[in-house]
Amino acid sequence: MGETYDAVVVGAGPAGSAAALVMAKNNLKVCLLERGETPGSKNMFGGTVYRLPTAELVPAFWEQAPLERPVVTEELWFLDDVSAVKFGFTALQFARPPYNKFTALRPAFDRWFADLAVRAGAKLYTSTLVQDIHWEKVGLTGRRAAGVVLEDGQVIEANVVILAEGAAAFLTQKAGLRRSIPPSQLVLYAREVLALPAATIEERFHLDPGEGAVLGFVGFPAGGIIGKGGIWTNRESVSIMVGGYVNQLQAAGYSLPALLVRFKAHPLIQRLIGGAESLEYQAHIIPKGGFDNIPQLVAPGILVAGDAALMISGRRGSDLALLTGQYAGEAVVQAHAKRDFSVATLSAYERRIQESFFLSDIKASRHAHTYYATHSDADLLLTKALNSTMLEFFRVDMETHKEKRQRIITKLKSMQSPAKTLRDLWAGLNNWGVF
Ligand SMILES: Cc1cc2nc3c(=O)[nH]c(=O)nc-3n(C[C@H](O)[C@H](O)[C@H](O)COP(=O)(O)OP(=O)(O)OC[C@H]3O[C@@H](n4cnc5c(N)ncnc54)[C@H](O)[C@@H]3O)c2cc1C
Repeated sequence: MGETYDAVVVGAGPAGSAAALVMAKNNLKVCLLERGETPGSKNMFGGTVYRLPTAELVPAFWEQAPLERPVVTEELWFLDDVSAVKFGFTALQFARPPYNKFTALRPAFDRWFADLAVRAGAKLYTSTLVQDIHWEKVGLTGRRAAGVVLEDGQVIEANVVILAEGAAAFLTQKAGLRRSIPPSQLVLYAREVLALPAATIEERFHLDPGEGAVLGFVGFPAGGIIGKGGIWTNRESVSIMVGGYVNQLQAAGYSLPALLVRFKAHPLIQRLIGGAESLEYQAHIIPKGGFDNIPQLVAPGILVAGDAALMISGRRGSDLALLTGQYAGEAVVQAHAKRDFSVATLSAYERRIQESFFLSDIKASRHAHTYYATHSDADLLLTKALNSTMLEFFRVDMETHKEKRQRIITKLKSMQSPAKTLRDLWAGLNNWGVF
């Protein structure tokens, strides 16, 4: 390990492995460091892998990657205590190449992805915690990163350090590139993987053999605070997730495991997961309100990519991690070709991000969390309003259509003003990010 590298990458998640793969393919000497026993062993997500961004780097990856199911059905449920208003879409063409999205489990997916970088020539060291940046003095007061320091004090020298260390981003913060994010802009999620036979999954989610579904849930799952739930169908398991803003979880005195138990016990959720056995449980943070907290992406000798750089838009994160890792790797390849690792040259990375579609999306949703700070019950009230309207609409009565319509409008107005319902819906559309 004690050699000098062209680049050292911290973290073998999608961002780090993408960066390592790009650089190794271009014959750079790359060291990829991962604190977990294997890539992905410390990672979790709901589980959607997006085809197009991944195929940019690994064309036709679905022929070799450990994926669970191609997603053909997506649904958003406004879930109340004993009813649900559902919006959904099924596209059978998504069951065939080139597909659209896949469900996946991170330990297998991340191992496969890191292995691509290794096969291209990168050196991967697992169970290796990076403790700090190794700084080199520049002039009288300046400094530049010249490698990393491991837990045991060993120094690994490199021309560039790519920080792809995920959402907590301790090194990025320690280097003074990212400020700490307040609890009002952090969402904490719990996720459990539950074993179910493939045939049961297909019957309950109305799928043909091998097809997948992803369901998002608003309202009931977060118990009156802002948050949501989700279910992903894997081959022989389902991943179920629930979460909410950290400050609201604290204020409501909710424990995340209890919220997950409550969600799983819902009678309509039981119809989907009843009889399933628990395989694993994990919790993880997603930083929201990203745009205003985006760190300094380029510093002398450093690039920051993926979640560490807050490249998260709605539910999309692993694909943006992959893309930013790719861009970071490509910027280092260019710098290596010029033998110029100055900030000016490495800033090609930042320019690509500034021109990207995802930065525009992250910028557009920058104020979503401020609406929810003052309307923490918005999702629940909206769910109640929708379910109550549908209940009245579908219930058979002995009255004229006009009387029925009038009664529904009066009831809706009594719950909250129609203008507020519309505002809640708009804020939700900007914030739920379930598709
Ligand atoms: C509940 C939940 C559901 C999600 N669902 C989806 C989804 O369906 N689709 C999607 O695209 N995204 C989803 N995301 C987001 C997605 O998981 C992240 O955006 C993605 O994992 C970011 O990739 P990354 O490589 O930047 O970081 P990570 O995947 O977090 O990888 C960082 C790696 O760095 C390692 N590491 C950290 N510090 C050190 C250190 N000091 N030394 C050595 N190694 C270190 C970690 O062990 C880890 O392996 C979800 C996230 C959560 C929490």
